[in-house]
Amino acid sequence: MDGSEQFSHVNWSASAAQLFQECPRRFFYRYQQTESTGDYSEYTPSPGAYLGTVVHESLAGQVARWARGKNIHLQTATDYAKDELERYVEVNAETIADWIDHTDEETFDSDSFTRSLVRTARNHIRQFFRVIWPHFGDHRYIAHETRQTFDVAEEPVTVQPDLCTRSPEGDFVVTDWKTGAFDRFSNPTIQMQAYALYAHEAYEPELSRIRVRLAHTGSGEFDRMVPTTEDIRRVRDQITNDRAFWASQGDVESYETDPTIQKCNQCSYLHRCIDGQAVVGGDPESN
Ligand code: SF4
Repeated sequence: MDGSEQFSHVNWSASAAQLFQECPRRFFYRYQQTESTGDYSEYTPSPGAYLGTVVHESLAGQVARWARGKNIHLQTATDYAKDELERYVEVNAETIADWIDHTDEETFDSDSFTRSLVRTARNHIRQFFRVIWPHFGDHRYIAHETRQTFDVAEEPVTVQPDLCTRSPEGDFVVTDWKTGAFDRFSNPTIQMQAYALYAHEAYEPELSRIRVRLAHTGSGEFDRMVPTTEDIRRVRDQITNDRAFWASQGDVESYETDPTIQKCNQCSYLHRCIDGQAVVGGDPESN
């Protein structure tokens, strides 16, 4: 493989850029093209990540109903999440037990764990129906959950907003549902700027008519942005700079580690990373 082109296959996206910013080495492991081992084929999403996926799917199903002029149903949405989460725990019980209790796997109670996951998903979905959705009832549907790729200065960019609408005032509104707990390592500005750029390129030339919203299904709160020319300039620059680095640097040393206990403890690649293991106190020899 030609190392100098190793990461040119990675389209720029807010999630790839955030990963790269938080820890370049994690980006390297995530996107490294490898023919080796079974590292990726046996990937099981963590309970928190899977819960987020299921809540998104459940809400997307209801938004699709709304797009077809039908009513949305809280019960249908929660039933879907319950079925999916029960199936997930049943199939992955052994792995989950391993993750949540390294010292005594006998203590893992899969029924109670499933009930807790389902309860959390139901709370997110209820919050969506009661607090978030009323903000969209009078909007005009444009698109939802569609993965879009477009070019910025000949660099491929991918976005996948959860919902695009027009408000009664004529504003173009891009919204993403956020199910995760607040993460102090994340930078929501990058994602909001990327959505603003997409809206600007694809739908709305007037920046002052663009609204970007991150809707937090845990709390019912919104992050809101009306993009400025400076936001668009910044995200364009970041796309160009990130892509230039990814396409020109292919060796692992170029992607430095940035270990902290919080980051490394949650990192799927800790078993490959000596620096991360040193920070969390693991024994590299045992991995
Ligand atoms: S374990 Fe830590 S330092 Fe290593 S790749 Fe993951 S986040 Fe980065």
